[in-house]
Amino acid sequence: MSIIRQVELIRQRIASAADAAARHPAEIRLVAVSKTRSVQEIGAAFDAGVVDFGENYLQEAVPKLDALAGTGISWHFIGAIQANKTKTIATHFDWVQTLDRSRIAERLARQRPSARGPLNVLIQVNIDREPDKAGVQPEALAELIAAVSAKPQLRLRGLMAIPRDHDGRGASRDSLARMAMLFQDAKARPDIHSECWDTLSMGMTNDFPLAIAEGASMVRIGTGIFGPRPGR
Ligand SMILES: *Cc1c(COP(=O)(O)O)cnc(C)c1O
Repeated sequence: MSIIRQVELIRQRIASAADAAARHPAEIRLVAVSKTRSVQEIGAAFDAGVVDFGENYLQEAVPKLDALAGTGISWHFIGAIQANKTKTIATHFDWVQTLDRSRIAERLARQRPSARGPLNVLIQVNIDREPDKAGVQPEALAELIAAVSAKPQLRLRGLMAIPRDHDGRGASRDSLARMAMLFQDAKARPDIHSECWDTLSMGMTNDFPLAIAEGASMVRIGTGIFGPRPGR
């Protein structure tokens, strides 16, 4: 199936999941996850109306970002952040969804070029406490929120999670609901800028309708748009 057709289908499924949850489809932002995909494939999704793209690997991403400079695409960094790569991330990306420690926040803030304005940031939460997964533990979230929201070069927009996958079927409803609770609770904190706190990024190809039912405002879809990923 063509990428344009796949984007249409995903948009329809987002709309029906939103309807079923008595939410407006426009509340849900679609990020196309373009790791391993070519500039041409990204261009096809962009032509279908997608403006947000997520990349995991810097070395792979930077040439693609350069090739597509000036298109108006918003680029989201969604991979593991190494401290020695923060400058490249702060320079090239519009969003970072995988912030999980204050040392990285400090570096990103210091290295963000002022001409680019504040970097949009989501804090990644290890909601199911998986030992091999990135993300702050839920009990350490408050401290990290305080550290990030104190930095004017970063605009803290909300939270992101990759919950435990259950046999390829995606997250459990319970994990998604716990994320939604953390997101709502944080909104009431005095130290966040609540008018900017608008993004709960959860839901991938296999579980985005459930994530929308539980309150996701941003879904990250790779294979659902581009087809199966080539092995890397
Ligand atoms: C690869 C990836 C996705 C997309 O996964 P699909 O199952 O292909 O939709 C979403 N989020 C992150 C962080 C990813 O690495």
